[in-house]
Formats: sequence, structure tokens, C-alpha cells
Amino acid sequence: MVVKMKTEKQIKEWEKRVRRVVPYTPGEQPRRQDVIKLNTNECPYPPSPLVERLAAEFRAETLRLYPDPDASELVQGIAGYLGVDEEQVFVGVGSDDVLAMAFLTFFNSPKPILFPDITYSFYDVWADLFRIPYRRPKLDGAFRLVKEDYLKENGGIVIANPNAPTGTEEAPELIEEIVARNQDSMVIIDEAYVDFGARSALPLVKRYENVLVVQTFSKSRAMAGMRVGFAVGSRKAIGYLKDVKFSFNSYTLNAPSIAWGAASLRDEAYFRETVGRIVATRERTKGELARLGFAFPDPRTNFIFASHKTIPARELFCALKEEGIYVRYFDRPRIDDYLRITIGTDEQMDRVISFLDGYIKKRGM
Ligand code: PMP
Repeated sequence: MVVKMKTEKQIKEWEKRVRRVVPYTPGEQPRRQDVIKLNTNECPYPPSPLVERLAAEFRAETLRLYPDPDASELVQGIAGYLGVDEEQVFVGVGSDDVLAMAFLTFFNSPKPILFPDITYSFYDVWADLFRIPYRRPKLDGAFRLVKEDYLKENGGIVIANPNAPTGTEEAPELIEEIVARNQDSMVIIDEAYVDFGARSALPLVKRYENVLVVQTFSKSRAMAGMRVGFAVGSRKAIGYLKDVKFSFNSYTLNAPSIAWGAASLRDEAYFRETVGRIVATRERTKGELARLGFAFPDPRTNFIFASHKTIPARELFCALKEEGIYVRYFDRPRIDDYLRITIGTDEQMDRVISFLDGYIKKRGM
């Protein structure tokens, strides 16, 4: 039998129906062990010893059973910790999962949603995936929000505060004004980095139904590998979010994530100590980077977004990588001369600074 082959170029009928999307590119996870990994804003310290203990006592036999679909232990822990009602808390597989669910639930209008031109680069990917129209108003020259851009008709708003990758924080008053003047839209505040010295929008949840505050255990609680994130909002908003989640996958969080996440919340002293150490290292690193000729917006995050006065960021990124120091570089308009450097331990940051010092001196000759 002779089968007529279609040329490679011809798109088949089934392919035309594919929900195509250009995926988000996460930071590289190198296989090499000897790397100083400062490219994905992970915590350089381990999770609480309470988590360590539960992990050591973990019995694989318990995996026979499905986890609690409501993740009650974790939800109760978060509600108690933040002083909100359990019905105001939604948990997910990292805040990426929570944000994706929130996009799917709340952004369902022909009007465009709004988020800045420079922000977390997953927002446009979810919008594309879910076919949500969007507009990206420009941050100003200091990478700050232009409030008026968010007082125009829209189908929803997403603001990372502090912003990524810039590290800048917007004042709570500005966030409140945007929420208050957009009561026909859901406003999502992504607070992945809030624990490193920024002010949270959580108080707004008591006063406005249209705000959702999203946080994560990945950075300040050193549990990126567990994938635990959550949202706090009005009972009504959280109810809608749960309806979508339970129409998608009942068992999002696995049993260890629920139990170990809850354990992390019980160790407030360790949490404060860890965050305090990272903030102290950041403040010291800021001074060193400034001395070497770097400029950066004031960071309220566990990273610094820095640009050198003479040496292109791409060159520094490659030189650092060669040295086994991984930082993040975004080859995008307006930010292609910046490096996003995660705050590691004091020893790691000393290595970074001494390498940069030597490199800049050598190049200057
Ligand atoms: N929001 C922002 C602004 C982030 O930088 C990240 C980390 N990539 C996330 C959300 C998602 O973090 P996770 O899914 O680990 O909670």
C-alpha cells in the first residue's frame, strides 16, 4: 500500500486544535554540586528543625492513603498564624499553582487584565494559556508602578509586591487605593518576598472582597522543594477558588507537604532568625556591591537587582557562571543590563564579592 506522506510543513488537523503556549522558563537547576546557586531565590538555610524531625520520622507506609483534600492541618496553621478565618485560606502546590488557579477563577472578562511590563514572567504565560487578554503598563524609570495606569477599565489586576525581579516595594497606601478604586475587579497581590522586610496587603482582606493576597513557603520558610503556597481573601473569593480547584484536582498537596508545612509554622523563632540572617547579609552585600560600582533599586527581597556602571550584565553573568556562581540574567528590554543575585550565606556572598572585585580590577587594566 502506498501511503501519501504529507510534507513536514503541513499542520495536521489535530495540531490546529492544540492549546499552544510558550512556556515559562524557570532558573537553571544545575546538576553540579559545587555551584554557588544564587539564581532562583531559594533560601540558603535549611527548613525548621521541626520539619527535619518529621522528615526523619516519615513512614512510606502512610503514602497508601490519599492526602486530606482540604489540607486542614495546614489551612488551620496558616489561619491561626495570620489571625484570619480558615474559610479565608486557600492552599496550593507552591504559589505558582495558587496564582494559576486564581487567574483561571477570577480573570474571565473580555477586558484586559493589567500587570507591569517588568514583573514575574509567569503572569503573561498563564494569561496566554487561559486566553485572558492583558495589557502591561510600563513601570517608571525607577521601576515603580504608575498608579494612574491601574485606575483604567480592566478585567483584573496582578501586582507582585515586592516586585520581581526588581526587588522594589510599593507603599500599602498605593496598593489600597488600587484595590479600593477597582471594586469591580479582582486584584491579586503576589507577596512571594514580603517576609524580607516589606509591608503586607493582608489587612486589606478584612475590608475588601476583591483582593487576594498570595504568599509562599518557598523563600522565607526554605521549603521550595515541598511546593507549598497559599492565598488569603474574602470567604466568598476563597469559596470560588476552591470550587475551581475541586473541579480540577482534589488532592493537590501531598501528605508530607501538609504536615511539614504546618510544622514550619509552629517554629516562629526559627523563621524570624532565618529571615533576620538573610536580611543582614543582604544589607552587607548592598554596601559591597555599591563599592564595586553597582547600582540597584532598594531591595525588600532575598535578592538584589543590580547593574554595573561600566561592565555589561551579560558579560558578568557569563564570567560568574564560568566561576561556578549562578545568578539570573533576563535578556529582555529595559532589564538586560541587570543581574538578579539571590542572597546566599555570608560565605557565599563573600565569594561573589571577591570574584567580582578581582574581575572588575583585572578588566579595568
Ligand atoms: N511569585 C513570584 C514573584 C516569584 O518570584 C515566584 C518564584 N519563582 C513565585 C511567585 C512562585 O513561587 P513558588 O511557586 O515556589 O511559591
